[in-house]
Amino acid sequence: MRRILTAIGLVLLLASPVQARQPAADLVLMHGIVLTVDDKDSQAQAMAIRDGRIVAVGSDTAIRQHIGRKTQVVDLAGHTATPGLIDSHAHILEGGLKELFYLELSHTTSIADLLAGVRGQAARLAPGEWLQGAGWNEGALAEHRAPTLTELDATSDGHPLWLMNTTHHYGVANSAALALAGIDATTPDPMAGTIDRDAAGKPTGILKEAAMQLVVSKLPPESPAHRRAALLHVMDEMHAEGMTGVKDPWLLPADWDAYVGLARNGELTAHACALFYAGADMTSAQNVVATVKHARLDAATISGHDLSVCGVKILLDGSAMARTAWMSDDYPADAAHPAPTGHGYPTVEPGTFRNMVRLFVAEDISIGTHVIGDQAIDLAADAYADALAATPQHGLRLSLIHAHHPSDHALAVMADLEKRYDAGYPEIQAPFLWWLGDALPSAFGPERSQHLMPLATYRRDDIIFGGGSDYPVTPLAARYGLWASVARQPLNGVYGQQPFGTAEAVDIHTALRSYTIWNARQLFLDEETGSLEVGKWADIAIWDRNPYTVATAELKDMTCLMTFYKGKLVYRAKS
Ligand SMILES: [Zn+2]
Repeated sequence: MRRILTAIGLVLLLASPVQARQPAADLVLMHGIVLTVDDKDSQAQAMAIRDGRIVAVGSDTAIRQHIGRKTQVVDLAGHTATPGLIDSHAHILEGGLKELFYLELSHTTSIADLLAGVRGQAARLAPGEWLQGAGWNEGALAEHRAPTLTELDATSDGHPLWLMNTTHHYGVANSAALALAGIDATTPDPMAGTIDRDAAGKPTGILKEAAMQLVVSKLPPESPAHRRAALLHVMDEMHAEGMTGVKDPWLLPADWDAYVGLARNGELTAHACALFYAGADMTSAQNVVATVKHARLDAATISGHDLSVCGVKILLDGSAMARTAWMSDDYPADAAHPAPTGHGYPTVEPGTFRNMVRLFVAEDISIGTHVIGDQAIDLAADAYADALAATPQHGLRLSLIHAHHPSDHALAVMADLEKRYDAGYPEIQAPFLWWLGDALPSAFGPERSQHLMPLATYRRDDIIFGGGSDYPVTPLAARYGLWASVARQPLNGVYGQQPFGTAEAVDIHTALRSYTIWNARQLFLDEETGSLEVGKWADIAIWDRNPYTVATAELKDMTCLMTFYKGKLVYRAKS
């Protein structure tokens, strides 16, 4: 330990005799800048930790008294400590599967690149095996379009192929996959889904929303070993980015079993909290109530807040990039999206959605509803208000996931629900403005784009929000979200460097709260983590720079030096 810490410029001090009457600390961090993110946003120099929890925060002089003969002392050498960062919306299990086992397309910059990846992967697979890929982003492709059926057929060597778009709201199949799924020109669009077609009515391979299931249901199931490997892999990545908590927002029972397996072995080294997918009708809703109750019993057998159940996830609309998010006004028409563009659609029948919400609230189960378009946001906010009026419950922390473009009405309802019921919290992903920032402006148009993710308005209205990545939709590292909340800049600037304006930006103090204490709240762990205060778990990230003082552009490049989860070192930088 000493050698490794020294290697990154941190020095273990020799322990000095214990002077205090209280038991000595197991671990002391000193000579640093400690951003506590407590109510007053106080700063300190040092912390003492015992049995995984913070026992003192203060000056070097005050904390020195907690050092005993066996205390491990880490000299932070002026580096900055923050609470371990938390993501309130990251699909870490699914993302891990994609990183480890599928063709990774998130850094592809042209159709030729993408096709080269397909060709390479096809050569590695056994005959007839599915070729699965994910992460392509037309905003980042030079051609700003999806690959065509002809291109994919010519490069996939007969393998059935499915490439999920980075939004996870559409993907593209090749002819072999369409044939296995039984999709041809005569196949009708499923409810709440779209089979994209050319001028002659022939499917193009692009399947949106519920239509994706036609192909996805034919994919081979993931093994428990793959799920386990995926979680372990992404937890390592989280630690390397100073992250110690996550809400994984779309689990099926087999995914939950993978989490439980790790937690029971003590291998879950982050606070993880699950949302179970609730489906789109009352039958699936009743089933998920039983799933949640069963999972709560599992979670009760796991101590130490490693794993918990956050509630259920409902998908109420689609994505702006697919033009399926449910808006009031039509999408702007352009060359790639000729009129009539429509204004998206709900993916659950609105009356059914209201009944689902009422059921879950009556069952004391929290809900996160995916809502992007303003119509979807209005409906979710109103349904929450109705259900809470019918069954008043304080502290369910019902959330509005994404909430890209809330109306004034929705803002008023959220503010009221937060105050009255501790519910109605937007869970936003500022990195969308970056990673999808070269495609979103065309979907919302220049005027609406200025108000996407209206973080400043949320604060003006005293609305607390959670921050996230929606990984693997955008990269996992929470530092990107800290930066994007402040900078609101797109990846390449296809629509200019500031298509979202800066009027809705927040400062780094607010951004950090949204990835720490406010997200702890959304994981029901605000008494346990999310700030560096006495009594809380010692979930701590050490950084090479102080986010409160560096230039905005540098937030994106913050480097994590060490991560502690419940007082244990789970990551240290190599150089
Ligand atoms: Zn998501």
